[in-house]
Amino acid sequence: MAIATINPATGETIKVFEPLKDREIACKLDLAGQTFTDYRQTSFSERSQWLQNAATILQQEKADFAKIMTLEMGKTYKAAIAEVEKCALVCNYYAEHAPSFLADVPVKTDASHSFIRYDPMGVILAVMPWNFPFWQVFRFAAPTLMAGNVGLLKHASNVPQCALAIADIIHRAGFPEGAFQTLLIGAAQVADIMADHRVKAATLTGSEPAGASLAAAAGQEIKKTVLELGGSDPFIVLESADLETAVATATTARMLNNGQSCIAAKRFIIADAIAPEFEKLLLDKFLALKIGDPMLPDTDIGPLATPGILQDLHQQVQTAVKSGGKVVTGGNPLADRPGNFYPPTIITDIPLDSAIAQEEFFGPVALLFRVPDIDAAIQLANATPFGLGASAWTNNPQECDRLISEIEAGAVFINSMVKSDPRLPFGGIKRSGYGRELSIQGIHEFVNLKTVWVK
Ligand code: NAP
Repeated sequence: MAIATINPATGETIKVFEPLKDREIACKLDLAGQTFTDYRQTSFSERSQWLQNAATILQQEKADFAKIMTLEMGKTYKAAIAEVEKCALVCNYYAEHAPSFLADVPVKTDASHSFIRYDPMGVILAVMPWNFPFWQVFRFAAPTLMAGNVGLLKHASNVPQCALAIADIIHRAGFPEGAFQTLLIGAAQVADIMADHRVKAATLTGSEPAGASLAAAAGQEIKKTVLELGGSDPFIVLESADLETAVATATTARMLNNGQSCIAAKRFIIADAIAPEFEKLLLDKFLALKIGDPMLPDTDIGPLATPGILQDLHQQVQTAVKSGGKVVTGGNPLADRPGNFYPPTIITDIPLDSAIAQEEFFGPVALLFRVPDIDAAIQLANATPFGLGASAWTNNPQECDRLISEIEAGAVFINSMVKSDPRLPFGGIKRSGYGRELSIQGIHEFVNLKTVWVK
């Protein structure tokens, strides 16, 4: 895949970038390794100040950063503004809390003094996706830099200007040159970097094949990885739920980021008794959404990020129909305009045992399933290879307890949509990956948890 800015709303190629050559990559690795030696000695107060400066730059220049995101991957401008603000939030969060998250932890033993201490590991590689091109990177960069590590970013090939802007923000904030560098490289160049002795660990957010490939390369070198992969999150609505609120939230949760979010609600599992009403209300909401130019303030849904994503999504819709699914609305790309536009789509009646029911639909397509009771709802919710998030709606306390304990996922949200929050850990189980980002757990992923015993 070329490293290029291609406007998904028009198909126009704006700018093409040359991938780094081997010797340029070697220089950046040298710089990262050398920087770590000094950077690990900087104080928390210095790092905190730089991270707060980054938050200020993000806030002050959010309009510019949001425009780059919308231009490169098609999210609505208003969503891009919100994303930049969230990046500022995570910078300030770790600037404030990292010193306590990484403070020595005394442990009483028969030593005169014993404790746990958190040392930085070194150079950490981040392989990142295009769908939240700023947020995914800042939620890695903020804890990594606060822990005293240095970062290397291999961003997705369709968001090079986002990747360069992020490295620039971090430098302007005051971090030493080399503390965070963008590598404009293709996916095929990642394994060699993983094998470099200066790179100590890696995190990847993206698809299962990409995660498996990075983890295999890391495994060869006995290096740690964190993987944040795909999801097919269930959105369960039981009879006692507040239906109006559930439908409004279902619409937001499915259409977030033009439908391209790992934690978007993808499978709607509705109790039989309320399913006809849910379907009708959801259809009304979907038909009211405005598709169009993502830069315009009243646009709800912009284009999908690339033509390939549109083709894959449409193929899945066709497979769903061949398997017995019925298209209630949408179901075909918008052919009357350039760009990668796919309309909000609802599909019902997909057989539960069909292979397609297990897949992640990465676009504005809602799969609706009906179930007789909570047992069937939980069984269906768990019947995918994924386990990222789950949203469940009920006003019955017993049902609530069962949903929390029996759903197999990294997060369960009751009467709310799944979202990430710097204060709470984020990550999945099963084929959605392993490890956690955000909160105290996130900053502990890339540190050497050192046991110290002094006699
Ligand atoms: P992708 O193709 O896996 O790309 C993600 C990143 O991995 C890109 O930087 C890509 O580089 C790189 N990559 C691809 N193949 C690779 C390989 N074999 N070795 C090393 N790096 C490789 O993912 P996508 O399809 O763009 O993104 C959508 C997926 O990400 C969905 O499944 C979504 O659910 C998941 N996601 C998960 C989370 C989470 O937190 N769990 C968040 C967002 C997205 P190139 O662009 O150069 O190919």
